[in-house]
Amino acid sequence: MGVVEPWSQGHSDMRLCRTCRGQADRKPLPGCTEPKHQQRYETKRELNNQYRRQRRSDARSTGTVYRGGRGNPDRKAQRERERHQQIREVLFERLGVHVCSECGFPDKRALHFDHVNGGGRRHRKSLPSGSAYYRALMNMSLDELRAAFQVLCANCNAIKREEREEWRWRHASEVAAQEDEGLPPSS
Ligand SMILES: [Zn+2]
Ligand SMILES: [Zn+2]
Repeated sequence: MGVVEPWSQGHSDMRLCRTCRGQADRKPLPGCTEPKHQQRYETKRELNNQYRRQRRSDARSTGTVYRGGRGNPDRKAQRERERHQQIREVLFERLGVHVCSECGFPDKRALHFDHVNGGGRRHRKSLPSGSAYYRALMNMSLDELRAAFQVLCANCNAIKREEREEWRWRHASEVAAQEDEGLPPSS
């Protein structure tokens, strides 16, 4: 028997399935064919449910109120920040890119996930929150994600946006000029 390749790699939250590049503890991403990923996800979910049931029944027997970790808003905000960072890390990992694709800028605080063909702002606005946007990205299959997104720094992102605007403006004025001359629009 040869050496069996592990189905996932990485540590704790950054442990990713080698097949779909999704987080090992979370739901396998669309198109994942690794049975161990599904298994791990179900085991984890079952353990979480057990823990929650146990906490709830403990709370009931001691007469305290079970809050499921929702008691402290500061802690909640902190957890959300951490989760946000973690999701970004996973997205960098899944794209296999950790620097700006244009200029190589490496500081992740200023890196964005940019829609290759534009429309990012519309996509973002169609969703209720920033975290929903990241969740939508997280639920894409690897091929989908890699085809639609690239990593750009804030500068290159702004320059790209500016150039697209410029192009749109020039295109519109050319069409208008042709109409003025009574020509049919060419495009
Ligand atoms: Zn998987
Ligand atoms: Zn850049």
